[in-house]
Amino acid sequence: MGKSNTDSYIQIAVDGPSASGKSSLARALAAHYGYIYIDTGALYRAVGLFVYRRGIDPGDERAVAAILNQIKVDIAYTDGVQQVYLCGENVSEEIREHIISRFASDVSAHVPVRAFLLGLQREIAAKNDVVMDGRDIGTVILPDAHVKIYLTASEEVRAMRRYKELSEKGQNVTLDTVRSDMRQRDLKDSTRAAAPAAAASDAVTIDSSFMTPAETLAAAVETADRKICKILKNKKYK
Ligand code: C5P
Repeated sequence: MGKSNTDSYIQIAVDGPSASGKSSLARALAAHYGYIYIDTGALYRAVGLFVYRRGIDPGDERAVAAILNQIKVDIAYTDGVQQVYLCGENVSEEIREHIISRFASDVSAHVPVRAFLLGLQREIAAKNDVVMDGRDIGTVILPDAHVKIYLTASEEVRAMRRYKELSEKGQNVTLDTVRSDMRQRDLKDSTRAAAPAAAASDAVTIDSSFMTPAETLAAAVETADRKICKILKNKKYK
């Protein structure tokens, strides 16, 4: 049975603050349903990396806007794992550097940057069943997503998760730095004027502070199953 229009594709939005486990959950949900996983933070990180390499002040909106026409961001999949390309170079590892988190957050506050990445995100969601994670997926990018999950966890738990992740990768960070950088970044993301990080009014909130990844997935699948079953019952595939 082929799908012939955008209405036939299922969209699952997973939003939430830094290190809430969004990407692990979204990846697991995508594997569970056989959908494509799109990590939108990686797109902002790629723009942040470009700005960092050029030595541009990420807070300078005019300077950042001026170089957007030199940037090409693409995503591809290797064994189901999202790879991010910046002007043809695979930067999937480099965008995870701690410093790039701050650059990504700074550049993401600029309207021209958000407009630049909006089309790419919607284009992918128009052609595939997707699980997309980010900060504004349920509110701005896919406001009609069939399933919206807002994943959160306490600041302490999130800081520890991110610290472990970075330490395991050999990055030289302390728990205190990670916690305070994360706090600043979340504050900036949620208070910016352009598409602030927020839970959609129709999102289901899951607090994963005391949940294992398997329990978080089970809670999300329960929510998603209910909504997807309803949609599939009413949907006409051509
Ligand atoms: O999710 P991740 O931590 O990789 O995102 C990096 C930064 O990109 C976030 O702090 C946020 O500023 C920005 N971002 C965004 N909108 C999204 C995804 C990420 O503004 N949909």
